[in-house]
Amino acid sequence: MNKHLKRLRECLYCHGEHVQKNGQLPKGWQRFRCTDCHKQFTLWGVRWTYDEAFRKKVVDAYCHNDLDARSVAQKYELSTSTIVAWAKKHRKDCDQCN
Ligand SMILES: [Zn+2]
Ligand SMILES: [Zn+2]
Repeated sequence: MNKHLKRLRECLYCHGEHVQKNGQLPKGWQRFRCTDCHKQFTLWGVRWTYDEAFRKKVVDAYCHNDLDARSVAQKYELSTSTIVAWAKKHRKDCDQCN
């Protein structure tokens, strides 16, 4: 597995990332609350995601350094489709690319 993947806590209901601890239940279960949809739960969902700094580095290599997707993919152990998707998102609000 790619070492830049990290675990992210998310709300089971709306998949938002703003989960807060919200006290304990009698049995010692931790209770959580989502600040987006205000639902409460004792188990949160988990999503695997790449950390932001890593994404930036990859996009920078691909978009700003004229490397092709395949060599970037090899270098960072990603698929080319991931890189192309990240680049597409990035180009929407990058002055350097527009
Ligand atoms: Zn939620
Ligand atoms: Zn850019």
